[in-house]
Amino acid sequence: LITLGIESSCDETGVALYQMGRGLLAHALHTQIAMHSEYGGVVPELASRDHVQRVIPLVRQVLSEAEVSLEQVDAIAYTQGPGLGGALLVGASVANALAYALDIPTIGIHHLEGHLLSPLLSDPAPYFPFVALLVSGGHTQLMRVDDVGRYTLLGETLDDAAGEAFDKSAKLLGLGYPGGPALSKLAAQGNPDRFKLPRPMLHSGDLDFSFSGLKTAVLTLTKQHEVDDQTRADIACATQEAIIDVLAYKARAALAQTGLSQLVVAGGVGANQLLRQRLSKDIGKRGGKVFYPDLQFCTDNGAMIAFAGALRLAQHQGRKDYRFDVKPRWDLQEMCIK
Ligand code: ATP
Ligand code: MG
Ligand code: FE
Repeated sequence: LITLGIESSCDETGVALYQMGRGLLAHALHTQIAMHSEYGGVVPELASRDHVQRVIPLVRQVLSEAEVSLEQVDAIAYTQGPGLGGALLVGASVANALAYALDIPTIGIHHLEGHLLSPLLSDPAPYFPFVALLVSGGHTQLMRVDDVGRYTLLGETLDDAAGEAFDKSAKLLGLGYPGGPALSKLAAQGNPDRFKLPRPMLHSGDLDFSFSGLKTAVLTLTKQHEVDDQTRADIACATQEAIIDVLAYKARAALAQTGLSQLVVAGGVGANQLLRQRLSKDIGKRGGKVFYPDLQFCTDNGAMIAFAGALRLAQHQGRKDYRFDVKPRWDLQEMCIK
């Protein structure tokens, strides 16, 4: 069975083909980062318009790369939410129109489920059950994953996401958008001992996070000091340390609490090399193992949507009614199998 996946929830148009039993056949991505960077963040209307222009050519591209004809596609998965309403509608309408023409089922996928399952595309892959640390631009959650569709929220951020903390701090330091990669690059030149930023909720005794205070702390530092190149690097270093410290501590605590040994890291912040090193070391020492998606599948992509779609299809969740709505706000718990 071949599933076509379409992701268009934010500023990346991603398309991929996944075949059960064979794996990923092809994937293609267009990122709008350059277009939005001028504005310092994603402009929703521009995002939607760009998805409109990109999605069909990307579908053609993956079909030709995989040497698969449209008629060989068995189902179409698309990101149904959460995300930008207009952007989601582009993927949803193309998916449903194509599927209607082909008389095949569609499957609306929760974007976070895509992120969550993306490490299963790698080799070696984790097996169920595992704990997932989902760290993206909009979310920071620890989840217990027992199976496809069986997710239990263990803890989450009460305010900003970890990716947002990276992005907002980067902005204060005059770095471009998105700030995560830029900030961590600059941090490599920084002195980790010069500044010490707070670790919010480190000892809160639960698995929740709070990152909104960090940008205020960064702002204060930029006001207190002459912000030359070295100081900027030192602040970047302290910021990254604080975020990673909290993520690693709570991830360890989640493993301890659940008694599980496998941690899966998903979402854009999972591309951070220092976070990867820290987690692998800390958790390896305790006999656990950490799994990451391929770097290219950490941030938004079509592969994770095609893959999640294929797994959902195997649970007979495809539909052929071609009515669709998108869910800009959508709690992952709502689509869990009870
Ligand atoms: P969501 O999935 O919650 O809707 P999103 O799709 O925008 O949000 P992703 O694409 O998964 O999020 O990740 C983007 C985030 O990852 C941005 O905040 C970006 O700064 C961050 N990020 C990407 N690479 C790195 C890195 N190397 N270090 C730290 N952060 C990073
Ligand atoms: Mg993005
Ligand atoms: Fe995402």
